[in-house]
Order: sequence, then C-alpha cells, then structure tokens
Amino acid sequence: MADGNGHEAPKKKPSKKRAPDLNTVFTINDDGSRNFLQVADVKGKWHLRRNLTYSFLLLAFAVTPWLKIGGHPALHFDIPGRSAYIFGGTYTNQDFHLMFFLLIGVGLSIFIITSLFGRVWCGFFCPQTVFMEGIFRPVERMIEGDRIARMKRNKESASVEKTSRKFVKHVIFIFLSWLFSVMFIGFFIPIREMVTLLPLFPGHSTALIWSLFWAGMLYFDYSWFREQTCLIICPYGRLQSTLVDYDTVIIGYDKKRGEPREKGTNSGGDCIDCRRCIDVCPTGIDIRNGLQLECIGCTNCLDACDDIMKKIGKPEGLIRFDSSRGFETGTSQLLRPRFWIYAVVLIALFGLFIQRAGNRENFHITTMRSQGMPYTIDAGNIRNLYTMHLQNKTDKEQVYFIAAADDALQSFEGVTYIIPQPRIVLKPLGDQLLTLFAIMPKASYSLPEDFHFAITDSASGVVQTTKVRFRGP
Ligand code: SF4
Ligand code: SF4
Repeated sequence: MADGNGHEAPKKKPSKKRAPDLNTVFTINDDGSRNFLQVADVKGKWHLRRNLTYSFLLLAFAVTPWLKIGGHPALHFDIPGRSAYIFGGTYTNQDFHLMFFLLIGVGLSIFIITSLFGRVWCGFFCPQTVFMEGIFRPVERMIEGDRIARMKRNKESASVEKTSRKFVKHVIFIFLSWLFSVMFIGFFIPIREMVTLLPLFPGHSTALIWSLFWAGMLYFDYSWFREQTCLIICPYGRLQSTLVDYDTVIIGYDKKRGEPREKGTNSGGDCIDCRRCIDVCPTGIDIRNGLQLECIGCTNCLDACDDIMKKIGKPEGLIRFDSSRGFETGTSQLLRPRFWIYAVVLIALFGLFIQRAGNRENFHITTMRSQGMPYTIDAGNIRNLYTMHLQNKTDKEQVYFIAAADDALQSFEGVTYIIPQPRIVLKPLGDQLLTLFAIMPKASYSLPEDFHFAITDSASGVVQTTKVRFRGP
C-alpha cells in the first residue's frame, strides 16, 4: 500500500518459522533431519496433579523391590528359576496360562480408560512420560536454563560455559540412566544381594550386562530420542483413533470460543495466537488443529492456555478436558454402550482369572515314557520305563509320596512297579526328575493299557494322579 507521498510501505518478510500442521511430523524436518524440541516450562493445577502422580509412581518404583510379603519379595520375577512372587502369590512356569487373563485384562482396561478419557495413561502413568517429564526434563532445565536460554545458547558457538553445562547434564543423565536400570533389574535379581555388588557386579555378569544395556537404552531415549518413542515406536498411540469416539473426554481446543484467533487484538475469538500452547508441547503439535496421534495427553497446553486466559482476563478452559460432543454441543455422555460392553467382558475375565488362580494346584506332575524304545523284554517280563517331573509350586519345603494308583493294571497278572524314590522332599519352588518302572509278565500282556501313578502331598493330603500307557510287543 502507498502512503500519501506515493511511497510503498516496506513488504513484510514472510516468516520462515515452521508451524506444526496436520500433514507433517513437526519434529522431523523436510530433509529428514531432527527438529529437536526445546519445550517451555509450564505451571498450573494439572502440572501439580501430574507431578504428584509421578512422585507416587517413582516412589513405588524405588521401594517395591525392597518390600517383602510373607517373607518373600513383594514383586519379583526369577527368570532362571521360572517363578515369580507377585504381591503375596507364588507362581511358576506352570501358571503361565494365567498371564493370558492378566494381559487381556490389562489390555482391556486400557481400552476402557482410553475410550472414556483418551490418553490419560500416556500423560500420567506411562514410564516414558514419568521419567522424561518427571526427572530428565527438569534436570535439563536446572542445568541449561529455560527454553529461551537453551535455544539462545544452542545457537552460540562453543564456549567453556556451553560445553561445561552440556557435559554436566550428560554426566547426570548417564548416572540417572544407570541408577534407574539398576532399580529396574532389582525386580529380576534380588535387590539386597545386588546392592552389595554395586557398581561393577563382580561375579554376576548377568546383572552387569543387563544394567549396562538398560542404562544405554535409557540414556539414548531420554537424552536424544525422547518424543520419537511415542511418535514412532509406541503402538498404543496408533490405536488411539480406533479407541476414542465422539464422547471420549480428550484434551481439546474450543474452536467455537477461540476462533477467529487474533494476535494482539481483542476483536476476534478468545485465542490471541500467542503460540504458548505449542511451545510447551513435548511432541511439538498445535492442539488447535484438533485431536492428533502425537498428543500424549500431558496437559501442558491446558495449563499454559489457562495461564494466558488469566492474564488477559478471560475465563479459563479454552483448552480443556471435554468430549468432541461437549466442544460442539456443550453436552457429554460418558457412560455409553461401548463402555458397558468393555466392562462386562473385563469383569468376566477378571472372574475367570480369580477362579483359575484360586484353583491352582500346589504341585505339578508331568510323566512321559522314556525316549527311545517303548519297552524292553527281560527274562520273560515286559519292562516300561517312565520319567516323572515333579514340581513343588509353593514357597515351602514339601514332602511327596509316590505309588501306583489303586486302579493301576489291576486286571493283569503279576504286575510289579519299581519306584526308586517313593518319598521325595522338594525345596520351595523346587523340582526333580524321577524314574519309574512298570513290569508285567509277557504271558499276561495282550494290548496297550493306560494306568496311573498317584502322588500325595503330605502337608495337605491332596492326591494327584498322572496317566501313562503300558506297552508291549
Ligand atoms: S495458548 Fe491459548 S491463547 Fe495462546 S495460542 Fe494457544 S490456544 Fe491460543
Ligand atoms: S497437545 Fe497438549 S496435551 Fe497433547 S501432547 Fe501437546 S501439550 Fe500435551
């Protein structure tokens, strides 16, 4: 436009600053390089609630391996011993089928929570977010300063201050990664034994290798990969679009109230296009573009926008928890048919889990015919050889008695059994292979016949039988 003297007003240079959109991943540049985010600090009521949740989870993570219930670790997975202590219950590999109910139950619970409240798991409970937002990001801010300071320093050429800040940050990151990896493997290797071997685990190469492996993974993730884990690796984010619907409560932007957004004026909607909600977003999206796969429900934009609204004297909640229906019509329907279907299936699964877990046997037997020849003939007798695997599934020493069952090969003349160890003592969660023989005169044998051995648990008096087949020529 020309002024009164015919001079053209200087043309505004088009801004080169890239803005998040729905067609590209903001954290990856056009040339494929990384657009490393410098996330701004935020304070607010949701920030406080999240920090309280993170503190509780981190405390539980630190303390649980040390807790004992009934003399055993509260939560411990003994992989070489193929057993686990889970909050007072003792489980062996023979209980593995219960994992099916557990995993389906956990999956379904996440379905229900997501269909009701969107990605509240990601924002409040996922370890990736808890460690990133609860530990590593605050440490980075403490050492390198706020977003502006970090961005400014990153543009500067190398200096003693810049290098030393980065060096200190990475040393602390490496230490924290190692510490968390040791705490994590404390769920698999008894923690009391492990701490006496710190830091190099002499004589325990498994602990050393796994602690270094996880420390490396955590350091890579939290120092560099960060939000890419949520955007590229985590499958749950991809599922989000199938789990949420019109009535799911999500973090969203109230377009009706916010638009048209007007920078620095009071004439449009409530959004003043300050971009604060983008600057605080750990995945670099613009929530005003609508629900996106990248949104991890962290509530940063919600707190940031509330803060702006307070400053400009407008009501809070331009960005808030609400359903798409709520944003459009002002009404919501939280408990809908989808929820009830999920809930009924979950209750049924939970009931089955309780029933199966409650009916677990205290000992497990597997008996197999010996490998190789099905039988041998010796001095006019047919001899069958069996191998029995007996497993004590309790956390106490147990005594078992082994005998042929009452019905065993009764209709055959002259049958005898050789049970070299009729009394077996098994230590807690211990197991043993046993050899058993059944012998029948050749003259008595006609066809293959099934029969049973009986194993009695001396403590409970429970008798279990195991079926085998007697074979001959
Ligand atoms: S923080 Fe609020 S006011 Fe600022 S750009 Fe985002 S939605 Fe608009
Ligand atoms: S859009 Fe908001 S809630 Fe979603 S990840 Fe970004 S800051 Fe967090």
